[in-house]
Amino acid sequence: MTDCPHCPWCPTQPDTPEYLLLYCPRHHSHCVALLHSLSALQPQRSTLTDLLGSSTNPNLVFKSLNLTKTFLQKPNQLHHI
Ligand SMILES: [Zn+2]
Repeated sequence: MTDCPHCPWCPTQPDTPEYLLLYCPRHHSHCVALLHSLSALQPQRSTLTDLLGSSTNPNLVFKSLNLTKTFLQKPNQLHHI
């Protein structure tokens, strides 16, 4: 996490994990792939809570975290978060 309060690619948007994971156009294609993968695991639309593995289903948590980890590695964002 940088000290900058805004997304590095979107000067008007807040630099938050939720924005980066779900809304930033810089990662949109990865985001769509991630949400598509998650939608196969659970019927309702995934939220940031699901992406961060806060579900009450341990099996779902494990799969969600793996998908989110893959997402973060694609654009080399681990150092940023
Ligand atoms: Zn952005």
